Amino acid sequence: MRDSPDVRPPKAARSARSRNTNSAPPDSPVMSDTMRAVEVPESGADFDVVEKSVPEPDADEVRISVEACGVCHSDEMTKEGVYPRIEFPRVPGHEVVGHIDAVGDDVDEWSEGERVGVGWHGGHCFTCEACRRGDFINCENAEVTGIDFDCSVECKTASVLEL
Ligand SMILES: [Zn+2]
Ligand SMILES: [Zn+2]
Repeated sequence: MRDSPDVRPPKAARSARSRNTNSAPPDSPVMSDTMRAVEVPESGADFDVVEKSVPEPDADEVRISVEACGVCHSDEMTKEGVYPRIEFPRVPGHEVVGHIDAVGDDVDEWSEGERVGVGWHGGHCFTCEACRRGDFINCENAEVTGIDFDCSVECKTASVLEL
């Protein structure tokens, strides 16, 4: 999870898997403060199922509530720490399907509830030479979902696909 200097209070109404049974009406979805994730605690270690705080998206990000995520060989490279820049703990996964449940302040093109997916490409900078040629997949500063940031949390909008 990345630090967010622009932490906003939770929005009042969101899609969610868990419900607050104490104060919310039965049909009013309320997001839990925590989420379950499968995490690699350190390079080469076994997976851990953990409870993590639900992050708020940065201004240029959306948050996705993950409904399903494939697992492929590249996730083993995350688990074994093959990528030199990877930091642990890390939640692997780059074949994400879910729906947007929070939208950053500067995001106009997406809204809560939209069904979306995210793949390997986790974002690009728009400013390097490759990006300026429209070759975003070869961005010098490209991020990879599940390697540079945790699967299931905030995603740069440039990496989100409508389903
Ligand atoms: Zn894959
Ligand atoms: Zn770039």
